Amino acid sequence: MSSPNGELRFDGRVAVVTGAGAGLGREYALLLAARGAKVVVNDLGGTHVGEGASQRAADIVVDEIRKNGGEAVADYNSVIDGAKVIDSAIKAFGRVDILINNAGILRDRSIVKTTDQDWDLVHDVHLKGSFKCTQAAFPHMKAQNFGRIIMTSSNSGVYGNFGQANYSAAKLGLIGLANTVAIEGRKNNIFCNAIIPTAASRMTEGILPDILFNELKPKLIAPVVVYLCHESCEDNGNYIESAAGWATKVHTVRGKGSVLRASLDETVTPEFVKNVWSKVTDMSQAKHVDNMAQATGALLEVLENLKSGE
Ligand code: NAD
Repeated sequence: MSSPNGELRFDGRVAVVTGAGAGLGREYALLLAARGAKVVVNDLGGTHVGEGASQRAADIVVDEIRKNGGEAVADYNSVIDGAKVIDSAIKAFGRVDILINNAGILRDRSIVKTTDQDWDLVHDVHLKGSFKCTQAAFPHMKAQNFGRIIMTSSNSGVYGNFGQANYSAAKLGLIGLANTVAIEGRKNNIFCNAIIPTAASRMTEGILPDILFNELKPKLIAPVVVYLCHESCEDNGNYIESAAGWATKVHTVRGKGSVLRASLDETVTPEFVKNVWSKVTDMSQAKHVDNMAQATGALLEVLENLKSGE
């Protein structure tokens, strides 16, 4: 849906934005509402390390949307109770078209100091919470043959970061989840993409250098995520990194590799591996692999070549 002046509109659409009481989620909710979507502003309202709860964060954003003439309701559930979050959308607006899995916490510690609670809580909120909300939204999206889902990953997951073993593992897990949601949703016009944001928020205060912090406004990322949620956007299974008014697609590549034995009759030895290691790790002919069929297709080719002695 676009207005005559080409503005991307969301009239008639219902969006659930998790963790929308602050930071990035708040900006997504405000922009979607400004473009005509009815928005469920989900936020548990706890601290950035996942302690406590409050209705205040979600309420303030709902008030802001209503004051601007938009439609919104608050939902105070934890994303771990994904069915309840989605139920709020169904009860208030009768449908759910867009789900932005954004809620998040940090419990940064070095590997040795990370407790089971630090690990579990971070995984529960980011990974399980995104899964539970997605799982609950899926049947509604399938029935209406339309859905747009966003997973929120992080550079910490893609590249690693000192002191964030729990967070980086969960955030890369969200890329894996996006990959499969994209595949399972495709035939029902349910597209799922991941955003890899860098923005000034309470989560990054004191972590990002001041000069960066002041320029990394969450508002500059919202249009990217909102575009990914529009019916005209047919991207599916992509990871988009965005910050400071810039965005790019990120994807994995696989090298050409090397066979690890001279023929099918031979076994693989550590010595053979050592001898060809520079070929195994050579990325000069690396290519993106689109799907599992391509990935296994290349393996079949390797076997064929071994059989024919090439
Ligand atoms: P933020 O702390 O400002 O916002 C996160 C919101 O999620 C908070 O309002 C919080 O109350 C809410 N929340 C936490 N646990 C919840 C739960 N269980 N259920 C519902 N709501 C919950 O942080 P932000 O920087 O806006 O982060 C938003 C997302 O972006 C997070 O997933 C974060 O990991 C991710 N991210 C942020 C950055 C960045 O640079 N800010 C970088 C990479 C990824």
